[in-house]
Amino acid sequence: MATTTQVTIVGSSNVDITAMMRRLPSPGETVLADSYRLTPGGKGANQALAAALAGATTEFIGAVGNDSHAEIALGQLAEAGVVLDRVKHIDGATGVAIISVDAQAENSIAVISGANSAMDEVAVRAAGALAGVLVLQGEIPASGIRAAIDAATGPIVLNLAPVIELDRDYLCRANPLVVNEHEAALILAQLEGTAELSTDPEAVIAQRLCDQGLESVVITMGGDGALVAQRGEDSASITTVAASKVTAVDTTGAGDAFTGALAARLAIGETLIDAAGFASRFAALSVQGHGAQASYPRSLENL
Ligand code: ADP
Repeated sequence: MATTTQVTIVGSSNVDITAMMRRLPSPGETVLADSYRLTPGGKGANQALAAALAGATTEFIGAVGNDSHAEIALGQLAEAGVVLDRVKHIDGATGVAIISVDAQAENSIAVISGANSAMDEVAVRAAGALAGVLVLQGEIPASGIRAAIDAATGPIVLNLAPVIELDRDYLCRANPLVVNEHEAALILAQLEGTAELSTDPEAVIAQRLCDQGLESVVITMGGDGALVAQRGEDSASITTVAASKVTAVDTTGAGDAFTGALAARLAIGETLIDAAGFASRFAALSVQGHGAQASYPRSLENL
């Protein structure tokens, strides 16, 4: 019997090429790097792995090229049993992020979208129905995100990172919108039609996002945990979810760990607040290891 998909992720997958060096080069300068590594990344793929490791039957729908990077981009997902049948293989390059990291862990990043830019309206429509909890990010074209929202059959978790222009009608289909503090302020400015970024506390920003029509909002706040806002009759109910007290060694992909784990728990019917609590514990484990996908917990024993 075929298993039912609990979480479907439509989004990006990349190979991260990370070079470690003592200091970042200035414009026009060449520096010798100490080492480099090729690792799978992209918000969509990261979140798909997190959802699967958090226990959900997960499908990832994205696009890769016909180069050797494709296998690296999808390797961890395949290993974790994520369904990849509807991944598009295009004639071109897999998305790549070129990351330079210096001795102080300061970085500079250039992203080449490559195959991810093929995830447009036509490609997403061709994929067909999207089962379970649908998870989306901002690393594929807006037309692909709109088409996915149109094809959703269940709740939509929208992690609009990076923040791209999306019509209010589409934004407000998110339940929840999951963003960090900076992205929350950017989206609020978009909805309120102003160029000015609010400096209000997160709880106020979340309230104002609900006033603009969002049903629920989760704002992640790094080591300060997350805030869950749910629209009510008069004002939104706001709950703070604490972050576990841990020593963070690398927070790369922590937001993706949080979003994927959150979707997995929503898919089994947990409340948004309980799911956010689980996601926070899951993400806290991820910041204790290096890298993005490599740092995600392979066992749920300590959760
Ligand atoms: P983003 O990388 O998208 O900005 P955040 O930095 O807000 O995301 O991190 C996402 C989640 O990861 C947080 O809500 C929290 O649960 C967890 N997290 C991040 N940094 C830490 C930390 N230093 N200690 C514990 N948990 C953390």
